[in-house]
Amino acid sequence: MEKTLIILKPDCMEKRLAGVVLDRFQKAGLDIVAAKLTRLHDTLLREHYAHIATRPFFPALAQFMGSRPVLVAVLQGENAIARVRELLGPTDSAKAPKGTIRGDYGTDVTVNICHASDSPENASAEINRFFAPNEVFA
Ligand code: UDP
Ligand code: MG
Repeated sequence: MEKTLIILKPDCMEKRLAGVVLDRFQKAGLDIVAAKLTRLHDTLLREHYAHIATRPFFPALAQFMGSRPVLVAVLQGENAIARVRELLGPTDSAKAPKGTIRGDYGTDVTVNICHASDSPENASAEINRFFAPNEVFA
């Protein structure tokens, strides 16, 4: 059993697609083992996006990600990290195939509905960044 962190981004929340996106994950057999609404401020975004914090698109990304409350959750299941990213599709929504979450609902390379952890190390760090141990019902 693996755990991964997802963030339903501001575009997902604004379009009222939280239920639709969570349904995709649940129908794929993944369990929600933690969840909350939170608003992402600059310090946390710089930490969460440390791998791209010096890229020219980072200010626009940070502005987008902090623009409204987001739903952060931990999903659990077999191969959860890879499977959730498969269900999402590639980063650029315009290149994501139909049938993937980003392909069906995303807008572009920045506004792309949902974040998901990309490795076991990052999943663990991201889960600990957003949730206390007693908030994860794994
Ligand atoms: N992003 C962007 N422009 C880019 C690449 C990424 O705005 O050229 C944003 C996008 O919202 C993406 C996030 O930065 O989801 C994190 O980038 P990463 O490469 O980790 O993509 P992901 O893991 O989300 O597919
Ligand atoms: Mg990433």
